Amino acid sequence: MLNSMVILMVDDDIGGGSRGGVGVAQTVKGVGGGDVEGSELDSGYTVRSAYQLLTDQVVAPLDAAAGLIWHPQVPLKVSILAWRLLRDRLPTKSNLITRGVLPVAAHFCVSGCGEAESAHHSFLSCSTFGSLWPLVSSWAGSSLVTAQTLPDHFVQFTSSAGGSRARRSFMQLLWLVSVWVVWTERNHRLFRGSANSLSHMLDKMKTFSYRWLRVNNSTIALNFHSWWFSPMLCLGLV
Ligand SMILES: [Zn+2]
Repeated sequence: MLNSMVILMVDDDIGGGSRGGVGVAQTVKGVGGGDVEGSELDSGYTVRSAYQLLTDQVVAPLDAAAGLIWHPQVPLKVSILAWRLLRDRLPTKSNLITRGVLPVAAHFCVSGCGEAESAHHSFLSCSTFGSLWPLVSSWAGSSLVTAQTLPDHFVQFTSSAGGSRARRSFMQLLWLVSVWVVWTERNHRLFRGSANSLSHMLDKMKTFSYRWLRVNNSTIALNFHSWWFSPMLCLGLV
């Protein structure tokens, strides 16, 4: 199911279509692997029942956060990471233990905090990785986010600098770049044995967001120095 949905999303991107996410019709086709309407005639299998089956089985329902995954200036691989994260489909240690890939004893978070590594832990509650969020909010000049679930966090973070469309778009991009930095840092610690400090992670987040945004923004392309200290000013959003 995951593979077919990812393929659908990649196809959608290559086709230059809307990045608004996978529609229900597409999803049903992806899961069923065939023509749902044709099956309906043969076996009484209705689109409604397929949709119900789908929404019952998906861990996180398609909600407000799903509409924020795609952003025109964010690389596709980053949006796919967010898509997997929001559905708890990343190979976290908790998920690998559930699948019997890892022994229960191998559950520890790579930061050394002593807690079990789950998606919620790594991206929100970890005393190391979770501390990135206040730093990002401080850099962006936005209010702190207190949401306790990942989808809620994404939605609240996106609105945490005010309601204008440009500000929300920027904060949406910052959430996506932040989860990318956390996951790559987690992988570096796990597989390479190297560890960056929190301030280095923040620097990476600033660098990536600058690179992604400067493509379509000549003002920030000329102001790397000010980007480092006041991104909102750089974007003309204050
Ligand atoms: Zn931790």
